[in-house]
Amino acid sequence: MGGSLGGLTTALALASKGLASTVLERTAGRTQRGVAILVAGARLHAAVGATARDAVAEALGPSSMSRHSLPHAWWDVYSALRSAADAEPLVTIVEGAHVVEAGQSDTSASARTRDGVTWTADVLLGADGYRSVVRRHVDALRPAAEYAGYVVWLGESELPPRYRGRAGGPDFFDGGGDMLAVYPLIDRAERVTRFGWGWFDPHHDALLRGIGAVDGTEVTRTPRTSDIPDETLAAMAEAGGRKWAEPWRTAVVRAFRDHEVIATPITEYLPDRVVNGRIALLGDAAHAQTPMTGAGFQEAVADAEALAEALDGTDSPEKALQQYELTRLAGMRSRVSGGQSFSRSFAGR
Ligand SMILES: Cc1cc2nc3c(=O)[nH]c(=O)nc-3n(C[C@H](O)[C@H](O)[C@H](O)COP(=O)(O)OP(=O)(O)OC[C@H]3O[C@@H](n4cnc5c(N)ncnc54)[C@H](O)[C@@H]3O)c2cc1C
Repeated sequence: MGGSLGGLTTALALASKGLASTVLERTAGRTQRGVAILVAGARLHAAVGATARDAVAEALGPSSMSRHSLPHAWWDVYSALRSAADAEPLVTIVEGAHVVEAGQSDTSASARTRDGVTWTADVLLGADGYRSVVRRHVDALRPAAEYAGYVVWLGESELPPRYRGRAGGPDFFDGGGDMLAVYPLIDRAERVTRFGWGWFDPHHDALLRGIGAVDGTEVTRTPRTSDIPDETLAAMAEAGGRKWAEPWRTAVVRAFRDHEVIATPITEYLPDRVVNGRIALLGDAAHAQTPMTGAGFQEAVADAEALAEALDGTDSPEKALQQYELTRLAGMRSRVSGGQSFSRSFAGR
């Protein structure tokens, strides 16, 4: 359940073991959820298996074979995984399938969509992100991820011509209580002409609560840019001009002036458990973490690999999922709690 980076990687990893899956995705068509993503290519290729590996390498370019984590545009990574999944006969993607309820019996797991259809399978894997619906079936006592106390404004911009071609990064810059993370993006032809950026900002708590994006300790939704008052965007543009240096400053200021930013209130979820019987969580549903870790996708890839390994050839899905939890839980907790230490000091909580 969930057809973004975590769900697609898992479907491909399962297919590499000969296991069929149906991916239920609530949205339809193009939905962008990020700007830059660090990809540890060799690890991703190992997880998705030989057939998908070529499609992913073709779509992302040779640098995606690297052992190192390199920043790629979110959309390029999504498109690479999506094309590989579309070409894989063992993966069926159903868009517009908004799951509202999960369940299980001794012999199967199920998901009911908003239109009243019930889907049944051997296991249900929740890759449904930070506001996971599946999580309450895995840990009813702690079903919600927590607001980390700050927002990250995301954008993607052109690099000025004289800075093009600089691979590497990300880089982080301190701006008197704020922080700017920049990711020079490697495209399919190995060129670096654009950069993704995230402005970590702990000053807009009241705004996020005022527009209903944060309620108590929870993030209730990712706000639309049109929800953010014009004067806030203008004030951010003005502050960006003072806080950040070139070659980033002009592009960041312009993005706020043009209203081309995504406000992402950050959430964290430190899991006590990620499996209940035939239902398991992965990706942000299992371990939402601050983007400061730079490892959200990497951890989702590790989940996909561990799930496929555990389910390969098993005659007991429950035991296989227990094995998955055993393999992954400590690593998930360590990554999330490392991020929480950053968040507490950054947001002054
Ligand atoms: C600001 C920001 C910056 C980031 N930067 C990085 C980075 O630099 N490096 C990195 O590795 N990671 C980064 N991440 C994290 C990374 O994007 C995720 O960890 C990773 O993509 C795994 O996400 P996911 O697929 O588990 O969840 P998501 O991307 O949240 O996808 C969940 C999917 O489930 C679907 N869904 C949700 N509810 C339902 C439902 N009820 N029924 C059906 N479908 C549903 C959604 O529509 C969506 O497609 C960042 C995250 C954020 C927020």
